[in-house]
Amino acid sequence: MKHNGVEFDNYFKNYPDANGYFGKYGGSYISPELQTAMNEISAAYQTICKSAKFISELRRIRKDFQGRPTPISHLDRLSAHIGTGVQLYVKREDLNHTGAHKLNHCMGEALLAKYMGKKKVIAETGAGQHGVALATAAAYFGLECDIYMGSVDIKKQAPNVARMKILGARVVEVKDGLATLKEAVDAAFAAYCKEYKDAIYCIGSVVGPHPFPMMVRDFQSVVGIEAREQFLDMTGELPDAVVACVGGGSNAMGMFAGFLNDPVDIYGIEPLGRGPKLGDHAASLNFGEPGVMHGFSTIMLKDENGEPAPVYSVASGLDYPASGPEHCFLHDCGRVKYDVVDDNETIDAFFALSRLEGIIPAIESAHAVAYGMKLAKTMGKGSVLINLSGRGDKDMDYIIEKYGIR
Ligand SMILES: *Cc1c(COP(=O)(O)O)cnc(C)c1O
Repeated sequence: MKHNGVEFDNYFKNYPDANGYFGKYGGSYISPELQTAMNEISAAYQTICKSAKFISELRRIRKDFQGRPTPISHLDRLSAHIGTGVQLYVKREDLNHTGAHKLNHCMGEALLAKYMGKKKVIAETGAGQHGVALATAAAYFGLECDIYMGSVDIKKQAPNVARMKILGARVVEVKDGLATLKEAVDAAFAAYCKEYKDAIYCIGSVVGPHPFPMMVRDFQSVVGIEAREQFLDMTGELPDAVVACVGGGSNAMGMFAGFLNDPVDIYGIEPLGRGPKLGDHAASLNFGEPGVMHGFSTIMLKDENGEPAPVYSVASGLDYPASGPEHCFLHDCGRVKYDVVDDNETIDAFFALSRLEGIIPAIESAHAVAYGMKLAKTMGKGSVLINLSGRGDKDMDYIIEKYGIR
């Protein structure tokens, strides 16, 4: 299938290219030391990911440890509540071990570390979700795990800090600058430059220098591959539309990977937060411009100096000022439509899914649910498959304190 000059037959063989580019996005904009380390990971991944032993071990782990495949649930009452006849479905990544999709790529990255003979995994974390998923994978494989985290985030995210420590990870406090995610990224990269002979760096989304956007997509594609087969099995057809929320874009890329070459409308949903003013949202593909940050070429929100702008979202997993390079490419060629929902619509969807279906979603995932509901109102018939990237247990205290019971 061709879309605006881009061929989607054999898409995964052709994108990214050998240098990690999806069209003009992606690549690798890093120091020579870091480039040496990335080249090593890239070469190892290209070989290991094709080995039958690696593939079968990852399959076994997905089934026996993670509890995959995760089901698809038909949202009978929510669909009836909307009342247009459109049927909504959710892919239940909330039922993946640890309660979200992030473990899909962390298990892949940690298994790669093991095959490369590394002893340690290194990463940064903001809200702590990536840190917890990586600490889980490290415990499973018996790897050391260093998680860099800003002092401010350590205070805010006490339960996730406790989880990481219980799982045996070392949480390294970063006190520089504003002491949040950006400083944690810098500190983790600096540590990795020194330790790369014994360690590998594990990125938490489809972002960063090549090969991470490709690797994380490949590891997450299990979501879309399962979902396509399950949906056909359940209904005898493909969904008319597929929806996922986009922070860095890993859960969305995983889901979309299953449907890019199908006659299915695909929607990536960014957080509009409090509104369209810079600083009030994190909708980089809707409001951003081309630029380079965190080692890759992307579409990003910039401040007056061209630096990554401060962003906001009610969902801490979505407040990133850029998106993965593959999303930028799919945006420009028009294969995926990137749209927004705001905080208010998200909180309404959070309660609707909880009340009508008995599923409490992560606030990140509630963005996709909100858009799926809006879409169902405008469609006369058909079906919408939403990626429910995680469960909402982590968000309940915050929702009750800030919004009360709606
Ligand atoms: C981290 C997170 C996200 C956002 O990350 P992506 O890379 O955009 O998928 C979305 N949902 C949940 C539940 C998360 O934990």
